[in-house]
Amino acid sequence: MTPDTPSYATDFLLAVERLTVSFDGFKAVNDLSFYVDQDEIRVIIGPNGAGKTTVLDLICGRTRATSGSVRFKNQELLSMREDQIVHAGVGRKFQTPSIYDGLSVFENLELSYPGGYTVIGALAYKRSAEVMTRIEEVAELVFLSDLLDVRASSLSHGQKQWLEIGMLLIQDPQLLMLDEPVAGMSVAERKKTAELLNSIIKDRSVLVIEHDMNFVKDIAHKVTVLHQGKVLAEGSMEKVQSDPRVIEVYLGH
Ligand code: ADP
Ligand code: MG
Repeated sequence: MTPDTPSYATDFLLAVERLTVSFDGFKAVNDLSFYVDQDEIRVIIGPNGAGKTTVLDLICGRTRATSGSVRFKNQELLSMREDQIVHAGVGRKFQTPSIYDGLSVFENLELSYPGGYTVIGALAYKRSAEVMTRIEEVAELVFLSDLLDVRASSLSHGQKQWLEIGMLLIQDPQLLMLDEPVAGMSVAERKKTAELLNSIIKDRSVLVIEHDMNFVKDIAHKVTVLHQGKVLAEGSMEKVQSDPRVIEVYLGH
């Protein structure tokens, strides 16, 4: 498809405009527009099937849009491949962690360092001071500094989620997208995850899908409520929480 890129420039880090995807005639995302600022944490909430995961799939190039535009730093993402979108600075975490169980925390982070290490290029790779410093910085952010030598398989569920966030942070994305990051975490782990997200948004924005309203309250600068592939409501947590339409389709259940 040809993206319908608007001709004017935008100051938003991410501008999603009139985005639509049709699966055999069913519009999972339907004429959707929303805008994310620099250094913003935006949370998308909404009932199951609202199209939340599909929106992330469209932004990261995993699913092809039927029409509309997704601009990141004024670059049209809809005409780019998935790897080009990653290279442009968009990192995406899926619901199930994709870490290497048999490798240590350190090795998982090292593998994710951009251009640093590939299985084939392993021989040519030198562990530079720069890579070491970055791994240590990121390990600190994701509460894994003391566990660098531990095998990923022996981490707790929450620690695995943090490791995967760390593997994305190593690549220093300007937009980090997370799909239900605290699902299955303990209350204490949820609190720490909120702390983690709040600490990484200097020169970075985060787009999070989440159901846990206490967690949403701890992180959201703004909330976008999705329903049937469209924005039902948008604004502060207080504003959307007291919106009767949001209560009816989502929060009341
Ligand atoms: P949410 O994440 O908000 O729960 P999804 O984005 O996963 O919702 O799904 C939105 C709707 O789109 C659902 O009805 C789902 O069945 C449908 N859907 C998602 N992906 C596909 C696909 N690849 N093919 C057909 N239908 C899909
Ligand atoms: Mg989903």
